[in-house]
Amino acid sequence: MKHIYLDHAATTQLDKRVLEKMLPYMSDYYGNPSSIYDVGRKSKNAIEEARDTISSCFNCKNTEIYFTSCGTESDNWAIKGVCSFNRNKGMHIITTNIEHHAVLDTFHYMKKLGYDISVVPVEKNGIVDPAKIEKAIRKDTILISVMFANNEIGTIQPIKEIGEIAKKHNILFHTDAVQAVGTIPIDIQNLNIDLMSISAHKFYGPKGVGALYIRRGVMIDNLLHGGGQEKTRRAATENIAGIVGMAEALKIAVDNLEENNNHIKKIRDLVKKGIEKKIPYIIYNGDEDKRLVNNINFCFRFIEGEGLILMLDFKGISSSSGSACTSGSLDPSHVLLALGLPHEIAHGSLRLTFGRDNSLDDVDYIVDTIADVVFKLRQMSPLYETFIKTNQANDNQ
Ligand code: PLP
Repeated sequence: MKHIYLDHAATTQLDKRVLEKMLPYMSDYYGNPSSIYDVGRKSKNAIEEARDTISSCFNCKNTEIYFTSCGTESDNWAIKGVCSFNRNKGMHIITTNIEHHAVLDTFHYMKKLGYDISVVPVEKNGIVDPAKIEKAIRKDTILISVMFANNEIGTIQPIKEIGEIAKKHNILFHTDAVQAVGTIPIDIQNLNIDLMSISAHKFYGPKGVGALYIRRGVMIDNLLHGGGQEKTRRAATENIAGIVGMAEALKIAVDNLEENNNHIKKIRDLVKKGIEKKIPYIIYNGDEDKRLVNNINFCFRFIEGEGLILMLDFKGISSSSGSACTSGSLDPSHVLLALGLPHEIAHGSLRLTFGRDNSLDDVDYIVDTIADVVFKLRQMSPLYETFIKTNQANDNQ
């Protein structure tokens, strides 16, 4: 059976070249990088080489990259670390209402600890207005955290402008760049970013490894306490194979970014066009242009996203929905609700995120299959039946 993976925002397949680079550090080079003998030094050197590679991809200093276990840890460390270190300076922090839960839930946790949080709503196109961020700033604001690109609707936030606002007001600026890395070129020097989270498994690297960029001179408290790794800022024996893999994956992604983006965008645009042509009563979520080239997000009226995902899976297509029933919640995605969509419409969402392994040859199958499944689900929907009958009655009047 055909298998077409269209969920690259969830994770990506480990690149075979990356795996090759990682394998020796899972067997032959097993030394603890903190040990001073040869086999330990080999591991240490591999980590420092990876740090050099990653820093050159972002145009920052190698001493500004700190390895973590994932994007979630990087987000937690940035937010909790800034809050705890700056507690005496102020206790107000700002974010948006479409952040990943790694940021939003951490903000709500900080609220429980006594911090004041401002969650700035995005506009209908899924992009935050920098003026609204600036308006939320108070004398005691210590942190602004705004994601680079959204994981559900792919919208790209005005990071440079927000960075400038933060700098002007002498406030630290964190961005969760987990979805942006590998798709958007990131030159940190150009962007006034103080802290940036990344995660390897979103750009064909291994799962369970990430990094936090911390601008030189920015002080934050540690999240993990223990050994003296990462210049005493992040305790724990390093995931050497993971770190080596992340650096290799990032280098491959950055070196081939334009070519991959062109390929992915071509497929994405054809699928979007095809769906719009074949399926009526749909809503396209998120800004048309200021979005990741790999993302489309639709709401199909009168159907449930979960049914759609399951039926597409039967036909060999892996996709995702903002309707969160599978994760144990009956609420639709907070991101789709933030766009102002009513619950019943937000429930019928479909996110397709394309990758470099997708083929132009699959476009017709993707479009036809989605159209077929949406048609079948609507045939079963009493809401759709009522809608069509009302429309016909109106036409006959
Ligand atoms: N931030 C964003 C925007 C994400 O999309 C994700 C993962 O989906 C994360 C953070 C969490 O990253 P990780 O899975 O590495 O913990």
